[in-house]
Amino acid sequence: MNEKIAMLLTLASQFLSQPVPHEMPTVDYVPQKVLQQKLCPQKNCKIEAVHESGTILLSNTTLEKDEVIHDSILLHELVHYVQHKSGKILNTCAGQREMEDQAYALQEWYLNDNGVYLGGPIRFGATELICSESSN
Ligand SMILES: [Zn+2]
Repeated sequence: MNEKIAMLLTLASQFLSQPVPHEMPTVDYVPQKVLQQKLCPQKNCKIEAVHESGTILLSNTTLEKDEVIHDSILLHELVHYVQHKSGKILNTCAGQREMEDQAYALQEWYLNDNGVYLGGPIRFGATELICSESSN
């Protein structure tokens, strides 16, 4: 697992033109309910993963998915980890959208590169929970 994280972390760093962080993130698997409580307690949203200050939490449900899909979700969160390490945490809605766009772009490239086409742009929905369109 650590080798895979290291490989994906390198990929994320190269994509963002940032140095590869010396420190590895903590990656933990938790019940999906834990993520729902954190990000969307009001809604029954299907959150798969979240990055928080150097810790990546993945839902147990990601383990049941195709390995490429699982790895792409981990890669998405590693993009946020590298953003975090590079000091690029943008707190405006536009900034958060930019961070998400980068993460989704690399995730989509990774999926396509591994022969997975989900048909249309992928959006698993985190930004919408953080920022509603009206609060620009
Ligand atoms: Zn994201």
